[in-house]
Amino acid sequence: MKRTITLQFILIVIITVISTLALAIMAFYRSFTDEIRDDLKSYAGVVMSAGVFASDKIISADNMRVTLTDSAGVVIYDTGSAEGRDFSGRHEIKKAMDKGEGFSVSHIKHDNNNMFYYTKQLEDGNILRVGKRTDSRLNMLYNSIPQIFFIVLFMAAASSVLAYFLTKTLIKPLEGMAEDINAGKEVNVYKELEPFAEMIKQQHEDILKNANMRQEFTANVSHELKTPLTSISGYAELIENGMATEADGVRFAGEIHKSSKRLLTLIDDIIRLSELDVMDRNVDMEDVDIYDIAYNCVSMLQLSAERHNVTIEMSGKRNIVHANKEMMEELVYNLCDNAIRYNKAGGTVNVSVDSVVDENGQNRVILDVKDTGIGISKEHQERIFERFYRVDKSRSKSTGGTGLGLAIVKHIVAQHHISMELESEKGKGTEIKVIF
Ligand code: ADP
Repeated sequence: MKRTITLQFILIVIITVISTLALAIMAFYRSFTDEIRDDLKSYAGVVMSAGVFASDKIISADNMRVTLTDSAGVVIYDTGSAEGRDFSGRHEIKKAMDKGEGFSVSHIKHDNNNMFYYTKQLEDGNILRVGKRTDSRLNMLYNSIPQIFFIVLFMAAASSVLAYFLTKTLIKPLEGMAEDINAGKEVNVYKELEPFAEMIKQQHEDILKNANMRQEFTANVSHELKTPLTSISGYAELIENGMATEADGVRFAGEIHKSSKRLLTLIDDIIRLSELDVMDRNVDMEDVDIYDIAYNCVSMLQLSAERHNVTIEMSGKRNIVHANKEMMEELVYNLCDNAIRYNKAGGTVNVSVDSVVDENGQNRVILDVKDTGIGISKEHQERIFERFYRVDKSRSKSTGGTGLGLAIVKHIVAQHHISMELESEKGKGTEIKVIF
């Protein structure tokens, strides 16, 4: 980038110098032509006022040619010795015949010079022509080539040095930006680049956070899988070594069965979470009746509730929301399942679907799952949505929990751009509202 900027700087300087010089030469040539015309005019005036034609003596200076023709354009006198020749076809002579005076420039090929002529018709009808030989425009440019070359060379050298320092100062804040972002420091960069720097910084932080989360998740997954596998391997080894009586064998098989079931639920949840991660954007949405979904879920969980000595009830009315049906079933299931598993004997779970009008006058559908269970203390409330976070690990495990249920719920809520509210008091119960 530095190299490109420097080269571009130099190129701009060279182009500017060359075009400025070319334009200057053109402008100079123009004023030079005007000046010559004035010179020739006044010279013709001098020749006329001296009245030297009658005496055959025509005054001429270096580089100057003076010609006198008769009214028909035939040369009477000429310092270029063209006496007797017919000049009536010449441009400047024609002009003098037509308009009284004329001016013309002609190019002399053999020495690449220009000849400027001024003509004037005299009172007696004769025509006076004065001419001056000068360098042509191209010649002037050719003659200036060495100067141009040195100027360009000097400017290129000067601009290289300037471009080098300028580029360095220009790039420095950008280089600093990368270092600052890496070091997690406040980024000091051009004002115009602040939003860009802020975005990069945010992305950098997100990437770091994600990498940390993934690392932590992988470590957690390995740990979670290891426990049931160790138990399976241990019991199997005892049976293999013939160290288990027949009664033990049945018990061990039961333990192996339990651990493998746990492994399967864990793997199911892990796969589900990674599926949700992948489908981030492509979720099929449709109009679904959230009451219907909740109702089915409650019916399905009746047995489990009875086993936990908990009553589960459903209230509310039909309400349509735009969502992914399968994800909604999963969300309601996870919330209701938790409300049963973290309940007290004789407790209740109330599931309701209602719609309310919020302060902005918008209709909001609310799914509410409320239990009279063990509740969650303040310090745990924020963290329970993290992957594998459990308030009471042994209770979670003994009721078949994986620590991933609420992480899946949080993911689904984020994907649907809906919100969730948690209210809980330790020992009294928990209420989770999902607001559409
Ligand atoms: P788990 O599989 O352990 O239930 P979740 O992600 O569903 O994992 O929940 C995380 C933790 O949050 C649980 O281990 C439990 O400690 C707590 N929790 C979730 N729901 C409730 C609830 N309704 N009442 C009390 N605690 C709850």
